[in-house]
Amino acid sequence: MSQVIILDQEGTRLSPCTPERAERLLQAGRAAVVCREPLTIRLTYAVELPPAPQECRPGGIGQGKRLLLHICCGPCATYPVRALRAEGYAVTGHWYNPNIHPYSEHVKRREALDAFAEKVQLPLIEDGYEMPVFFRAVANQERFRERCPICYRLRLARTATRARAEGYDAFTTTLLISPYQDQAAIRRIGEALAAEVGVAFHFENFRRGWAERGKLTREYGLYAQSYCGCLYSEWEATQQRGRKGAG
Ligand code: SF4
Repeated sequence: MSQVIILDQEGTRLSPCTPERAERLLQAGRAAVVCREPLTIRLTYAVELPPAPQECRPGGIGQGKRLLLHICCGPCATYPVRALRAEGYAVTGHWYNPNIHPYSEHVKRREALDAFAEKVQLPLIEDGYEMPVFFRAVANQERFRERCPICYRLRLARTATRARAEGYDAFTTTLLISPYQDQAAIRRIGEALAAEVGVAFHFENFRRGWAERGKLTREYGLYAQSYCGCLYSEWEATQQRGRKGAG
């Protein structure tokens, strides 16, 4: 089923959402149906808009302030959304993570993000679960150092393409917060995609907010995963825990 059109209280069109998220909003009484075909819902609560855009800070993203943020999971979104809003960016989240396995884990993480997004009124664009695309991309390059840059590129390419098609001024990713990810590779890939696709990549060292991420995750009561995402990382994390347990 295609995405659902979502309007704010004033009738302004927001970024579309999935049918599942629309259903949750309707069941919680947080939205009402405006039209069935195409399915259109209207929020029954006021959306808190980010701070009004001011002058761009030096080293910022030029004239524009609409930013599409690739989100790998709810916990990793907490600090970047707060930091970017404080800097004056109008942030929309983008969920596209075909690397997360199994499917039940993908659902758990997406639901955690939905819960966070509702709490902070973050507009979300959610792309589907394209699990085979991930496996095809990393086939024969499954080793840790080899597969991760492919995984970054796969996800960021979708966000960059979306950002370009939907008129955002820049894109970035919550992957930049994690000390477990290769931040230099993420930056290199983001900047290469920016040149290829024609939309700016916003680099920011979100790692400074890693401790705050933990605090915010607990405050919001979000599900926090125990491995990066793919089956390989789940296996590696299990092995490491086993070694520690044996040691
Ligand atoms: S370990 Fe994480 S970043 Fe690397 S391929 Fe797996 S899911 Fe992607």
